[in-house]
Amino acid sequence: MNRPHAPHPRPNRAAGLLLLAVIAAGLPVPAVAELPGAEPLAVRPGQRLLVIAPHPDDEMLSSAGLMQAVLNDRGRVRVVIATPGDAFVDAVEQETGELHPRPEDYVRYGELRLKEARRAVDALGGGRIKLDLLGFPDGGLHPMLRQHWSRRHIERSATTGQDRVSCPEADAPGIPFDGEDLQRQLVKILQEEKPTLIVFPDAMDWHPDHDGLAMFALLAIERWIKSEANTGSGPHPRMLSYLVHWYHRWPFGSAGLRPVDLSDEPLELPEDLPARGHHRSCLLLSPEQRRIKRQVLAINQTQQRIMAPFLSAFVRSTECFSELNRVDAEHIEALMARGHRPD
Ligand SMILES: [Zn+2]
Repeated sequence: MNRPHAPHPRPNRAAGLLLLAVIAAGLPVPAVAELPGAEPLAVRPGQRLLVIAPHPDDEMLSSAGLMQAVLNDRGRVRVVIATPGDAFVDAVEQETGELHPRPEDYVRYGELRLKEARRAVDALGGGRIKLDLLGFPDGGLHPMLRQHWSRRHIERSATTGQDRVSCPEADAPGIPFDGEDLQRQLVKILQEEKPTLIVFPDAMDWHPDHDGLAMFALLAIERWIKSEANTGSGPHPRMLSYLVHWYHRWPFGSAGLRPVDLSDEPLELPEDLPARGHHRSCLLLSPEQRRIKRQVLAINQTQQRIMAPFLSAFVRSTECFSELNRVDAEHIEALMARGHRPD
Protein backbone atom coordinates (compact mmCIF):
# COMPACT_ATOMS: atom_id res chain seq x y z
CA MET A 1 0.00 0.00 0.00
CA ASN A 2 1.20 3.52 -0.47
CA ARG A 3 -1.68 5.88 -1.01
CA PRO A 4 -4.52 6.40 1.39
CA HIS A 5 -7.19 7.37 -1.09
CA ALA A 6 -8.48 5.50 -4.11
CA PRO A 7 -9.12 7.49 -7.29
CA HIS A 8 -12.71 8.20 -8.24
CA PRO A 9 -14.50 5.01 -9.15
CA ARG A 10 -14.31 4.30 -12.82
CA PRO A 11 -14.58 1.19 -14.92
CA ASN A 12 -11.26 -0.51 -15.35
CA ARG A 13 -8.23 1.72 -15.66
CA ALA A 14 -6.44 1.18 -18.94
CA ALA A 15 -7.14 -2.48 -18.40
CA GLY A 16 -3.61 -3.57 -17.49
CA LEU A 17 -1.21 -5.40 -19.76
CA LEU A 18 -2.28 -8.75 -18.43
CA LEU A 19 -5.86 -8.22 -19.55
CA LEU A 20 -4.60 -6.94 -22.90
CA ALA A 21 -2.53 -10.07 -23.23
CA VAL A 22 -5.60 -12.22 -22.69
CA ILE A 23 -7.57 -10.23 -25.25
CA ALA A 24 -4.67 -10.30 -27.71
CA ALA A 25 -4.57 -14.06 -27.41
CA GLY A 26 -8.26 -14.28 -28.29
CA LEU A 27 -9.17 -15.79 -24.93
CA PRO A 28 -12.65 -14.97 -23.59
CA VAL A 29 -12.86 -12.34 -20.84
CA PRO A 30 -15.70 -13.51 -18.61
CA ALA A 31 -18.39 -11.00 -17.74
CA VAL A 32 -18.94 -10.24 -14.07
CA ALA A 33 -21.98 -12.53 -13.91
CA GLU A 34 -19.85 -15.44 -15.13
CA LEU A 35 -17.17 -15.08 -12.47
CA PRO A 36 -16.54 -18.44 -10.89
CA GLY A 37 -16.84 -18.65 -7.12
CA ALA A 38 -13.71 -18.82 -5.03
CA GLU A 39 -12.38 -22.20 -3.96
CA PRO A 40 -10.68 -22.98 -0.66
CA LEU A 41 -6.93 -22.55 -0.88
CA ALA A 42 -5.24 -25.67 0.44
CA VAL A 43 -1.58 -25.35 1.44
CA ARG A 44 0.36 -28.55 0.92
CA PRO A 45 3.16 -29.46 3.35
CA GLY A 46 6.69 -28.31 2.62
CA GLN A 47 5.88 -25.46 0.23
CA ARG A 48 8.51 -22.89 -0.72
CA LEU A 49 6.60 -19.61 -0.75
CA LEU A 50 7.91 -16.40 -2.33
CA VAL A 51 5.92 -13.22 -1.62
CA ILE A 52 6.70 -10.25 -3.89
CA ALA A 53 5.53 -6.83 -2.66
CA PRO A 54 5.91 -3.27 -4.01
CA HIS A 55 5.91 -1.47 -0.63
CA PRO A 56 6.52 -2.40 3.00
CA ASP A 57 3.20 -3.73 4.43
CA ASP A 58 1.82 -5.13 1.13
CA GLU A 59 3.35 -8.48 2.02
CA MET A 60 1.36 -8.53 5.28
CA LEU A 61 -1.89 -7.11 3.88
CA SER A 62 -1.93 -9.79 1.22
CA SER A 63 -0.30 -12.83 2.78
CA ALA A 64 0.33 -12.69 6.54
CA GLY A 65 -2.05 -15.65 6.95
CA LEU A 66 -0.63 -17.59 4.01
CA MET A 67 2.93 -17.16 5.30
CA GLN A 68 1.89 -18.52 8.70
CA ALA A 69 0.11 -21.47 7.09
CA VAL A 70 3.19 -22.37 5.00
CA LEU A 71 5.57 -22.05 7.96
CA ASN A 72 3.26 -24.11 10.16
CA ASP A 73 3.29 -26.93 7.64
CA ARG A 74 7.05 -27.46 7.31
CA GLY A 75 7.37 -24.90 4.53
CA ARG A 76 9.81 -22.09 3.81
CA VAL A 77 9.00 -18.41 3.18
CA ARG A 78 10.95 -15.63 1.48
CA VAL A 79 9.70 -12.06 1.07
CA VAL A 80 10.87 -9.51 -1.48
CA ILE A 81 9.96 -5.84 -1.03
CA ALA A 82 10.79 -3.83 -4.14
CA THR A 83 10.74 -0.24 -2.83
CA PRO A 84 11.11 1.49 0.57
CA GLY A 85 7.72 3.21 0.14
CA ASP A 86 9.57 6.51 0.40
CA ALA A 87 7.38 8.54 -1.98
CA PHE A 88 4.25 8.59 0.16
CA VAL A 89 3.95 12.38 -0.03
CA ASP A 90 0.92 12.85 2.26
CA ALA A 91 2.54 10.72 4.94
CA VAL A 92 5.92 12.47 4.77
CA GLU A 93 4.18 15.85 4.98
CA GLN A 94 2.31 14.63 8.03
CA GLU A 95 5.39 13.13 9.68
CA THR A 96 7.59 16.20 9.12
CA GLY A 97 4.94 18.90 9.44
CA GLU A 98 6.39 20.39 6.24
CA LEU A 99 4.37 21.38 3.19
CA HIS A 100 7.38 20.73 1.00
CA PRO A 101 9.51 17.99 2.55
CA ARG A 102 13.14 17.80 1.40
CA PRO A 103 14.64 14.83 -0.43
CA GLU A 104 16.39 13.70 2.76
CA ASP A 105 13.01 13.62 4.54
CA TYR A 106 11.76 11.12 1.96
CA VAL A 107 14.95 9.06 2.32
CA ARG A 108 14.57 8.97 6.10
CA TYR A 109 10.92 7.97 5.79
CA GLY A 110 11.86 5.07 3.50
CA GLU A 111 14.51 3.87 5.93
CA LEU A 112 11.98 3.94 8.74
CA ARG A 113 9.52 1.88 6.69
CA LEU A 114 12.15 -0.72 5.81
CA LYS A 115 13.09 -1.07 9.48
CA GLU A 116 9.43 -1.60 10.30
CA ALA A 117 9.14 -4.19 7.53
CA ARG A 118 12.14 -6.08 8.88
CA ARG A 119 10.70 -6.12 12.39
CA ALA A 120 7.27 -7.19 11.16
CA VAL A 121 8.65 -10.04 9.03
CA ASP A 122 10.88 -11.20 11.90
CA ALA A 123 7.92 -11.12 14.27
CA LEU A 124 5.73 -13.11 11.89
CA GLY A 125 8.28 -15.78 11.11
CA GLY A 126 10.23 -15.85 14.38
CA GLY A 127 13.39 -15.22 12.35
CA ARG A 128 12.61 -17.99 9.84
CA ILE A 129 11.62 -15.74 6.90
CA LYS A 130 14.34 -14.51 4.55
CA LEU A 131 13.70 -10.89 3.56
CA ASP A 132 15.04 -9.08 0.48
CA LEU A 133 14.79 -5.27 0.54
CA LEU A 134 15.60 -4.18 -3.01
CA GLY A 135 15.35 -0.39 -2.58
CA PHE A 136 14.07 0.52 -6.06
CA PRO A 137 12.21 3.86 -6.35
CA ASP A 138 8.75 4.13 -4.88
CA GLY A 139 6.48 5.39 -7.66
CA GLY A 140 9.06 4.35 -10.25
CA LEU A 141 8.25 0.73 -11.05
CA HIS A 142 5.91 1.41 -13.94
CA PRO A 143 8.26 3.98 -15.55
CA MET A 144 11.13 1.48 -15.17
CA LEU A 145 9.12 -0.98 -17.19
CA ARG A 146 8.25 1.45 -19.95
CA GLN A 147 10.74 4.35 -20.15
CA HIS A 148 13.70 3.29 -18.05
CA TRP A 149 14.37 -0.29 -18.99
CA SER A 150 18.16 -0.17 -19.39
CA ARG A 151 21.15 1.48 -17.70
CA ARG A 152 21.22 3.91 -20.62
CA HIS A 153 17.93 5.42 -19.38
CA ILE A 154 18.07 5.31 -15.60
CA GLU A 155 15.04 6.42 -13.58
CA ARG A 156 15.43 9.28 -11.10
CA SER A 157 13.11 9.45 -8.11
CA ALA A 158 11.01 12.64 -8.07
CA THR A 159 10.98 12.68 -4.27
CA THR A 160 14.45 11.54 -3.14
CA GLY A 161 16.33 12.75 -6.23
CA GLN A 162 18.28 9.48 -6.30
CA ASP A 163 18.94 7.35 -9.37
CA ARG A 164 20.32 4.22 -7.70
CA VAL A 165 19.74 2.14 -4.59
CA SER A 166 21.23 4.09 -1.71
CA CYS A 167 19.10 3.34 1.31
CA PRO A 168 21.38 1.72 3.96
CA GLU A 169 18.58 -0.68 4.89
CA ALA A 170 18.48 -2.04 1.31
CA ASP A 171 20.42 -5.18 0.41
CA ALA A 172 22.54 -4.00 -2.52
CA PRO A 173 23.35 -0.27 -2.53
CA GLY A 174 24.57 1.13 -5.84
CA ILE A 175 22.27 -0.73 -8.22
CA PRO A 176 20.88 1.74 -10.78
CA PHE A 177 17.14 2.33 -11.08
CA ASP A 178 16.30 0.56 -14.32
CA GLY A 179 13.99 -2.26 -15.35
CA GLU A 180 16.68 -4.68 -16.42
CA ASP A 181 18.38 -4.50 -13.03
CA LEU A 182 15.12 -5.10 -11.15
CA GLN A 183 14.31 -8.04 -13.38
CA ARG A 184 17.81 -9.48 -12.91
CA GLN A 185 17.37 -9.32 -9.12
CA LEU A 186 14.01 -11.07 -9.26
CA VAL A 187 15.30 -13.83 -11.54
CA LYS A 188 18.29 -14.38 -9.22
CA ILE A 189 15.97 -14.76 -6.22
CA LEU A 190 13.73 -17.19 -8.13
CA GLN A 191 16.76 -19.26 -9.16
CA GLU A 192 18.05 -19.37 -5.58
CA GLU A 193 14.74 -20.08 -3.94
CA LYS A 194 13.03 -22.32 -6.51
CA PRO A 195 9.59 -21.43 -5.09
CA THR A 196 6.67 -23.79 -5.48
CA LEU A 197 4.23 -20.99 -4.65
CA ILE A 198 4.67 -17.37 -5.81
CA VAL A 199 2.47 -14.50 -4.65
CA PHE A 200 2.60 -11.11 -6.38
CA PRO A 201 0.33 -8.10 -7.10
CA ASP A 202 -2.61 -8.20 -9.49
CA ALA A 203 -1.88 -6.52 -12.82
CA MET A 204 -5.22 -4.71 -12.60
CA ASP A 205 -4.54 -3.09 -9.21
CA TRP A 206 -4.98 0.66 -9.84
CA HIS A 207 -1.73 1.56 -8.11
CA PRO A 208 0.97 1.84 -10.80
CA ASP A 209 3.68 0.31 -8.59
CA HIS A 210 1.45 -2.71 -8.02
CA ASP A 211 0.55 -3.28 -11.67
CA GLY A 212 4.16 -2.50 -12.68
CA LEU A 213 5.56 -5.07 -10.26
CA ALA A 214 3.00 -7.62 -11.48
CA MET A 215 4.55 -7.34 -14.96
CA PHE A 216 8.08 -7.59 -13.57
CA ALA A 217 7.12 -10.67 -11.57
CA LEU A 218 5.59 -12.40 -14.60
CA LEU A 219 8.56 -11.54 -16.80
CA ALA A 220 11.00 -12.83 -14.18
CA ILE A 221 9.00 -16.03 -13.64
CA GLU A 222 8.98 -16.71 -17.38
CA ARG A 223 12.72 -16.08 -17.63
CA TRP A 224 13.42 -18.34 -14.63
CA ILE A 225 11.27 -21.17 -15.99
CA LYS A 226 13.02 -20.94 -19.36
CA SER A 227 16.46 -20.85 -17.70
CA GLU A 228 15.70 -24.16 -15.98
CA ALA A 229 13.90 -25.82 -18.87
CA ASN A 230 16.74 -28.29 -19.35
CA THR A 231 16.84 -29.41 -15.74
CA GLY A 232 14.50 -32.37 -15.41
CA SER A 233 10.86 -31.43 -15.68
CA GLY A 234 11.60 -27.74 -14.92
CA PRO A 235 9.77 -25.58 -12.38
CA HIS A 236 5.96 -25.51 -12.23
CA PRO A 237 5.25 -22.91 -9.57
CA ARG A 238 1.72 -22.13 -8.48
CA MET A 239 1.14 -18.40 -9.14
CA LEU A 240 -1.26 -16.31 -7.06
CA SER A 241 -1.99 -12.61 -7.48
CA TYR A 242 -3.41 -10.34 -4.80
CA LEU A 243 -5.30 -7.06 -4.86
CA VAL A 244 -4.69 -4.12 -2.53
CA HIS A 245 -6.14 -1.12 -4.42
CA TRP A 246 -9.53 -1.15 -6.11
CA TYR A 247 -12.44 1.19 -6.71
CA HIS A 248 -15.68 1.85 -4.79
CA ARG A 249 -13.75 2.20 -1.51
CA TRP A 250 -12.90 -1.51 -1.55
CA PRO A 251 -12.41 -3.22 0.79
CA PHE A 252 -15.35 -2.35 2.99
CA GLY A 253 -14.21 -0.46 6.09
CA SER A 254 -11.00 0.84 4.52
CA ALA A 255 -12.19 4.42 3.99
CA GLY A 256 -13.72 5.07 7.43
CA LEU A 257 -12.46 7.54 9.99
CA ARG A 258 -11.54 4.83 12.50
CA PRO A 259 -10.37 1.24 12.17
CA VAL A 260 -13.20 -1.29 12.40
CA ASP A 261 -12.72 -4.87 13.55
CA LEU A 262 -13.98 -6.99 10.65
CA SER A 263 -11.78 -9.96 11.42
CA ASP A 264 -14.71 -12.40 11.58
CA GLU A 265 -15.84 -11.39 8.09
CA PRO A 266 -14.37 -12.84 4.90
CA LEU A 267 -12.66 -10.52 2.44
CA GLU A 268 -13.43 -11.55 -1.14
CA LEU A 269 -12.01 -10.16 -4.34
CA PRO A 270 -14.36 -7.52 -5.82
CA GLU A 271 -17.05 -8.82 -8.17
CA ASP A 272 -16.10 -6.32 -10.85
CA LEU A 273 -12.45 -7.38 -10.90
CA PRO A 274 -12.36 -9.14 -14.29
CA ALA A 275 -11.72 -12.85 -13.86
CA ARG A 276 -9.56 -13.11 -17.02
CA GLY A 277 -10.05 -16.85 -16.98
CA HIS A 278 -8.40 -17.18 -13.54
CA HIS A 279 -9.79 -19.25 -10.70
CA ARG A 280 -10.07 -17.57 -7.35
CA SER A 281 -8.81 -19.21 -4.18
CA CYS A 282 -9.28 -18.10 -0.60
CA LEU A 283 -7.31 -19.19 2.44
CA LEU A 284 -9.29 -19.41 5.66
CA LEU A 285 -7.37 -17.86 8.57
CA SER A 286 -7.77 -19.21 12.08
CA PRO A 287 -8.60 -16.67 14.83
CA GLU A 288 -4.98 -16.97 16.01
CA GLN A 289 -3.63 -16.27 12.51
CA ARG A 290 -5.86 -13.17 12.28
CA ARG A 291 -4.64 -11.99 15.67
CA ILE A 292 -1.03 -12.35 14.56
CA LYS A 293 -1.79 -10.56 11.26
CA ARG A 294 -3.19 -7.60 13.20
CA GLN A 295 -0.18 -7.65 15.52
CA VAL A 296 2.41 -7.55 12.72
CA LEU A 297 0.51 -4.83 10.84
CA ALA A 298 0.65 -2.77 14.04
CA ILE A 299 4.46 -2.77 13.74
CA ASN A 300 4.09 -0.62 10.60
CA GLN A 301 3.62 2.44 12.80
CA THR A 302 4.25 4.95 10.01
CA GLN A 303 1.32 3.46 8.08
CA GLN A 304 -0.90 3.09 11.14
CA ARG A 305 -0.52 6.82 11.76
CA ILE A 306 -1.91 7.76 8.35
CA MET A 307 -4.27 4.96 7.35
CA ALA A 308 -5.14 2.65 10.20
CA PRO A 309 -8.68 1.97 8.84
CA PHE A 310 -7.22 0.78 5.53
CA LEU A 311 -4.81 -1.65 7.19
CA SER A 312 -7.48 -2.95 9.55
CA ALA A 313 -9.86 -3.67 6.65
CA PHE A 314 -7.48 -6.41 5.46
CA VAL A 315 -7.50 -8.29 8.78
CA ARG A 316 -10.26 -10.73 7.85
CA SER A 317 -11.09 -14.40 8.02
CA THR A 318 -9.85 -14.96 4.45
CA GLU A 319 -7.01 -14.02 2.08
CA CYS A 320 -8.15 -14.33 -1.53
CA PHE A 321 -6.09 -14.63 -4.69
CA SER A 322 -6.43 -15.11 -8.44
CA GLU A 323 -4.66 -18.22 -9.71
CA LEU A 324 -2.57 -17.45 -12.79
CA ASN A 325 -1.14 -19.84 -15.35
CA ARG A 326 2.14 -20.17 -17.18
CA VAL A 327 0.40 -18.77 -20.28
CA ASP A 328 -0.04 -15.40 -18.49
CA ALA A 329 3.73 -15.09 -18.07
CA GLU A 330 4.31 -16.10 -21.70
CA HIS A 331 1.86 -13.45 -22.93
CA ILE A 332 3.53 -10.68 -20.97
CA GLU A 333 6.92 -11.63 -22.35
CA ALA A 334 5.51 -11.70 -25.88
CA LEU A 335 3.95 -8.25 -25.42
CA MET A 336 7.20 -6.81 -24.11
CA ALA A 337 9.12 -8.36 -26.97
CA ARG A 338 6.71 -6.69 -29.42
CA GLY A 339 7.96 -3.25 -28.57
CA HIS A 340 6.84 -2.23 -25.13
CA ARG A 341 10.46 -1.58 -24.26
CA PRO A 342 11.53 1.74 -25.74
CA ASP A 343 15.13 0.66 -26.12
ZN1 LIG B 1 1.57 -0.86 -2.04
